[in-house]
Amino acid sequence: MSFQNPTFIPGPTNMPEALRKACDMPTIDHRSPLFGKILHPCLDGVRQVLGSRDASIFFFPSTGTGGWETALTNTLSKGDKVLAARNGMFSHRWIDMCQRHGLDVQIVETPWGEGIPTDEYARILQTDTNHQIKAVLATHNETATGVRSDIAAVRAAMDAANHPALLFVDGVSSIASMDFRFDDWGVDVAVTGSQKGFMLPAGLAIVGFSVRAVAATETADLARTFFDIRDMQRSYEASAFPYTPPVGLMNGLKLSLEILLEEGIDNVIARHARIATGVRLAVKAWGLELCAASPELYSDTVSAIRTPEGFNATDIVTHAAEVYAVAFGVGLGDVAGKVFRIGHLGSLSEVMMLSGLATAEMCMVDLGLNVKLGSGVAAAQEYYRSHPAPRLARS
Ligand SMILES: *Cc1c(COP(=O)(O)O)cnc(C)c1O
Repeated sequence: MSFQNPTFIPGPTNMPEALRKACDMPTIDHRSPLFGKILHPCLDGVRQVLGSRDASIFFFPSTGTGGWETALTNTLSKGDKVLAARNGMFSHRWIDMCQRHGLDVQIVETPWGEGIPTDEYARILQTDTNHQIKAVLATHNETATGVRSDIAAVRAAMDAANHPALLFVDGVSSIASMDFRFDDWGVDVAVTGSQKGFMLPAGLAIVGFSVRAVAATETADLARTFFDIRDMQRSYEASAFPYTPPVGLMNGLKLSLEILLEEGIDNVIARHARIATGVRLAVKAWGLELCAASPELYSDTVSAIRTPEGFNATDIVTHAAEVYAVAFGVGLGDVAGKVFRIGHLGSLSEVMMLSGLATAEMCMVDLGLNVKLGSGVAAAQEYYRSHPAPRLARS
């Protein structure tokens, strides 16, 4: 096993050394003022990254999945109707969670590779005149298919229907990597985790609640204890947690936010877009196609690449791991064996990405695909050299 190479899976992402070190800290008393010096910068930093002025931010020792549960159980009651599109493995799992909590999910079945069908959302919301739908779910970036949905258009569909439902957005593989606008899009709950855009180990669910979503906790009757935001909120006022916080991870988050904000969120977003464009040009040069059906859907954090009929895409991932000690992502669910995924988010530079593209080429050639060594790398190189990163102003 080699740890020399970066990984190219869409989370957990590569960890900068500084963040690894920040997570590795001596024990502190989490009931002392020291903890507040970690907690409060994290709350402020995440609020900025989400693009919000007054969202309430919460951290749970959990993962993105726990963030989904936080969104649902704090705001909804048994039997409540929610609207959700199923267009990949992650939206599927969130729907499954809703059903297990006794929610009534109106599922819009959507081909894998398509985004949220906002016209269909609009039609459903228009006809829901007595407002049975209490929440609209939106997976911003479907990590299984590399599809980015248009959250502004989801909000527009809700507004056009004058619909009061809450808007919950899964931003696990988009927040801190792609444009995300909590306030502008009227998001009520945003969900993410520590191990993707924030470049940390897994272990934190990171959620933002709007004022309306916080208020919904007063009437929501789904069972919750560990994920009750009211306990968190009360504890935060005393710079504490209702239980033992994962202090090392939060210390890592504090530094992650400093690094992201120093680079500048707009620059972080532009870097992801630039790296992703190089990957897509490489895919084109290989003569392959993305799972995402059209350019406006292309994700800037993960590309799911279709392999030719009769070829098992998972072989590329297995081969890369065994022969070159490099990790790519396998296809999940409906697209298992049909796609392999290149994750390109988090702590990543153009130069690192070129090594991933070169490795993917070696694997495909080794396995007999009709791909020319260097073709994708050259396409990405041409793009990267003609679109250099703006020099970081370091003080
Ligand atoms: C990774 C991911 C999740 C799941 O997060 P966990 O941290 O693994 O629980 C949910 N949604 C999306 C879109 C993801 O990419």
